[in-house]
Amino acid sequence: MVWFVALVIATTFGTYLLQDPQTQNPEAGQSSVERHGLQSSSEIVSLFDRLALVEETPQGRNLPYRWNAPLRLAFAGVGKSEQIARAQGIWREAARHAGLEIIFVERPEAANLVLHFAESGTVKRVAEDYGAKPVADAGRYRAYHMNRNDDRGSILEARVIMDAALDGDSLARSLRHEIMHALGFPNHPAAEVASVLAPRGETLFADFTMLDKILIRTLYDPRIRPGDTAEAVRGIAPVIVDEFLAVLKSGAVKGGNDPKAAARQRP
Ligand SMILES: [Zn+2]
Repeated sequence: MVWFVALVIATTFGTYLLQDPQTQNPEAGQSSVERHGLQSSSEIVSLFDRLALVEETPQGRNLPYRWNAPLRLAFAGVGKSEQIARAQGIWREAARHAGLEIIFVERPEAANLVLHFAESGTVKRVAEDYGAKPVADAGRYRAYHMNRNDDRGSILEARVIMDAALDGDSLARSLRHEIMHALGFPNHPAAEVASVLAPRGETLFADFTMLDKILIRTLYDPRIRPGDTAEAVRGIAPVIVDEFLAVLKSGAVKGGNDPKAAARQRP
């Protein structure tokens, strides 16, 4: 089993307003897809492929990795109560998009997911204490993320380490980016892609974009099964994305995948 380390957030965040495509021109008379700034179906599918399919596995195969068990989240480090409350809300939102159950647990030993708020200046060291390979980042990064996966498509554990000085919107932007990694998107898209995963340096989206929600729902769709090969996933992903876009155009987007349906259909 291997810890995958996915990086990271640059030290500073811009102060200018970044427009979330979800909130632009809601009455502009465009189709929903255009209004949300989404790419075409085939572009979304190819982004999904690039972002979700891990290229380095012990078998040398591409596999999608995701959680196939409830999230048991614990907090560690020096987070303030308002930071923890904000982070719980964001995790709850992400779990809903995925159709995953999430439970908050007291002790990190009982968790499969730990969010550690580290004192400023210690973030990298704490990440390395958790098992991250040393990263030549010159101390620039304020958030780290690691997943431990099995070799058959399941994420077993994740750790997110964040600078405890991040709060408010900086915390929200940074955490949503790391959550995408923790949910099974280890890679980054090009800077112009409307996703919290885009490595925009100083400017990240404040909320999950509609594209992010489609990516999460696709990865966690029950028609994709643990251990499916990349080829199998590439067969079904366009169907899932097209279905979602059709629902989006009809204006009837649901809150997220249904955990009960997912549980029924998974082996
Ligand atoms: Zn990243």
